[in-house]
Amino acid sequence: MYVSNDPDITLFNAGHPSKKTVTLTFDDGPARVLPELLDILKKEKVPAVFFWQSRLLYPGRPWKRVLEEGHQVGTHSSKHSNYEKLTPNEQVQDLRRSKLKIESITGQDVKLFRPPFGQYNEHTIAAAKELGLSTILWRISSMDWELKEEPEQIITNVLENLEDGAIILLHELTQTAAALPGLIAGIRDKGYEFSLL
Ligand SMILES: [Zn+2]
Repeated sequence: MYVSNDPDITLFNAGHPSKKTVTLTFDDGPARVLPELLDILKKEKVPAVFFWQSRLLYPGRPWKRVLEEGHQVGTHSSKHSNYEKLTPNEQVQDLRRSKLKIESITGQDVKLFRPPFGQYNEHTIAAAKELGLSTILWRISSMDWELKEEPEQIITNVLENLEDGAIILLHELTQTAAALPGLIAGIRDKGYEFSLL
């Protein structure tokens, strides 16, 4: 596995010796656009990773489809607090609450964690480790949250920065769903396949 200078932070997937791969990750759901994202991923046969805010996860959300269709679910905290502004104890509590809520609804172990805003300190890393979570950041930001009117730019931002193993930051947003078919096609055109974490 290729990691950043900090061995506890993951920016790249584990890779594959005989093929180039990237990993699509979607933050801040489960949101209303999730079924549309799932439809596109299913049609294109692309697995992805979803980092959910546990406060948004209700039993009625299509979480079952996410798992049945081969995607991974990680936690993105309980309610998107900036962990750098929380005490060490508050960080552990929030992270544990989010992990347990997702596990209680989905019935599956949660092993992946993405800090809200990508903000963390040494206590965040320690809290994640204590709870058996790997801390996942990203190598490529699509900047999709700033591109509501320009979904094409989401594709450009990713394709210009592609490299083997790169974890790509996306969100459960309407413009991201609009860009997703073109994004998948563009990534494939450059010779990459899709991998989970
Ligand atoms: Zn977020």
